[in-house]
Amino acid sequence: MAVDILKTPIEFLRGVGPQKAELLKKELQIFVFEDLLYFYPFRYVDKSRFYKIREITEDMPWVQIRGYISDIELHGQKRTTRMTAVLNDDQGYKLELIWFNGFKFLKGLFLPGKEYIVFGKPTRYGRKFNIAHPDIEEVSSAAITQQSAMHPVYNSTEKLKSRGLDGKGISRLLKTLIPQVKNYINETLPEYLRDELKLPGLRQSLVNIHFPENNQSLARAQARLKFEELFFIQLKILSLKNNRTRESKGQIFKVVGNQFHDFYKNHLTFELTDAQKRVIKEIRSDTLTGKQMNRLLQGDVGSGKTIVALLVMLIAIDNGFQACLMAPTEVLANQHFESLSAMLANLDINISLLTGSTRKAKRRVIHEALASGNLNILIGTHALIEDVVVFHDLGLVVIDEQHRFGVAQRAKLWKKNIISPHVLVMTATPIPRTLAMTLYGDLEISVIDQLPPGRKPIKTIHQYDSNRLKVFGFMREQIKLGRQIYVVYPLINESETLDLKDLMDGYESIVREFPLPDYAVSIVHGQMKPADKDYEMQRFVKGETQIMVATTVIEVGINVPNASVMVIESAQRFGLSQLHQLRGRVGRGADQSWCILMTDYKLSADAKKRIQTMVSTNDGFIIAETDMELRGPGDIHGTQQSGILDLKIANITRDEKILKYARKKAEEILDKDPFLRLPENQILLKTLQSKQIGGERWSKIS
Ligand code: ADP
Ligand code: MG
Repeated sequence: MAVDILKTPIEFLRGVGPQKAELLKKELQIFVFEDLLYFYPFRYVDKSRFYKIREITEDMPWVQIRGYISDIELHGQKRTTRMTAVLNDDQGYKLELIWFNGFKFLKGLFLPGKEYIVFGKPTRYGRKFNIAHPDIEEVSSAAITQQSAMHPVYNSTEKLKSRGLDGKGISRLLKTLIPQVKNYINETLPEYLRDELKLPGLRQSLVNIHFPENNQSLARAQARLKFEELFFIQLKILSLKNNRTRESKGQIFKVVGNQFHDFYKNHLTFELTDAQKRVIKEIRSDTLTGKQMNRLLQGDVGSGKTIVALLVMLIAIDNGFQACLMAPTEVLANQHFESLSAMLANLDINISLLTGSTRKAKRRVIHEALASGNLNILIGTHALIEDVVVFHDLGLVVIDEQHRFGVAQRAKLWKKNIISPHVLVMTATPIPRTLAMTLYGDLEISVIDQLPPGRKPIKTIHQYDSNRLKVFGFMREQIKLGRQIYVVYPLINESETLDLKDLMDGYESIVREFPLPDYAVSIVHGQMKPADKDYEMQRFVKGETQIMVATTVIEVGINVPNASVMVIESAQRFGLSQLHQLRGRVGRGADQSWCILMTDYKLSADAKKRIQTMVSTNDGFIIAETDMELRGPGDIHGTQQSGILDLKIANITRDEKILKYARKKAEEILDKDPFLRLPENQILLKTLQSKQIGGERWSKIS
């Protein structure tokens, strides 16, 4: 076969050249013809719609108006700084047009007796509107060039614009490209599937996505391309999952033995919730199959994931295996170690803690006990992944707060094992169902959707900064009742000195309000030495201080049941899931807990919505859905770096139906033809192999 024209380097496209090619690569990751072909417009403008000047409102992304142009004037003294003109519509209204450069070219271009079509973004200026740098066409010539009413709008960047590649420039490139490559676009979906779903062909869809014939063909093209995008992700995830379950061997936990029963009967001080029992059953059945378990355990903060993990570890130990638990921070690892040690105090189980600050001698003892099999449970941070750590027979790995660990890090932990241990990943960041299907589509998912009984729901209140004295008063009352309080400052970037200054100023004002000897205040932030951080944290945990001023370092996992008030400063600067995580630090004891969101008066629409959502619900899943709506799936906690959601056209919030359909079709096809060997599925196999879909990204979490 001839060379694939779609793989031609972009500099060979007419109108590009080496310099523009460099920019296209750097700015938009467009390297070859194909990349440009798949660079979709981010929206369309309906050029059949004309507005009257009187109809203009502030929130319009663009308007298109017919009218006459008058009063062309240059302003500014020595060097001209702007040019204005007036657009007059047929209702007698006037709109200012304005330019900041290109005057020479513009002067004399607009003739008084001619009608023009003016297009651009209206901006409010006092009580009037204007349009800066509008697109202007004569009515007569516009009528000829306008083939279709829907005009594509492409994203560009400042650098590209300065080289003449603004949105329009990119559109011009596509006009050159498409006729050249059109006949070389190969179909990727089998005919039977296209027929069944009534999807247009790929060639037709790609042409229409860039240059829609009409609204209908645009809609059909979008549907086809969205389906395709989501379908191949699902096909990839599901075939990986098939392979894994086919090939992977897993330890078999034959029995539930003494350790489990003894603990359950004699040492567990509360009744498990139904949700906890259900999850344990789900895990239990995984460990009997002889296949490796890869399970994600989702449960809102405080839902009791740790006890589930402990019970499963006991089953592993009952079967002669070791278990380990990895936490993202030293503080958390410590806390897990202490609470698990306490719970296991009367059992014959050896448990140790290994973190970055474990001393050498102690470390050696742990390594030996691990290798000999004397140590049953090891708890730690990523120190666990260090190469010297060798288990005798690791049967279960529990990872707390999964998003802090990369896939590669996890894999290191047991690459020496012949049979991989079962893996349970616990997360308190609820993930909307659709997102989970895409992100973790190859994992089994368990959900603890029930809080232990007797918990009082946290009350969340929004307060403006001007009410600070009232808030201080409330804090004093709570401290008088014996409670402890968190005050959290945003620290988007730990190295930002400005943020740190906010925190220090806040700390000082709190120390002024709550002076020694009646009160003691702790402070923790990311720029402190780990030892100092730990020391301060421990003081708060032990109840030696009443107030903990901190950044989001306390976001994950920390458990101080006596802390019942969470004050979040500049709450508008936090994302929803972060606010929810922070709120989860309180409400862990029997007392009524409070979350107070402090903001100033100026709030963006999104910030308002976030605050309202927090005030109105404690349900992590509702919060996660709202978060995804507001921010788009790509920005959801922990998914940013994954690249998995690098979707070009589909949107898993808006296109949930298509996603489910794609999932269903992929399942049906793989059920019938797991290796895609049937002749009619060759096209799928080929596409799957040639497309850069995730690659390793979806392989097992272990
Ligand atoms: P998370 O899911 O946030 O990790 P934890 O496992 O830390 O939650 O549990 C929070 C608290 O609730 C702990 O003090 C734990 O002992 C307690 N707890 C867990 N399950 C139950 C239950 N079924 N009944 C009562 N208390 C429980
Ligand atoms: Mg936890």
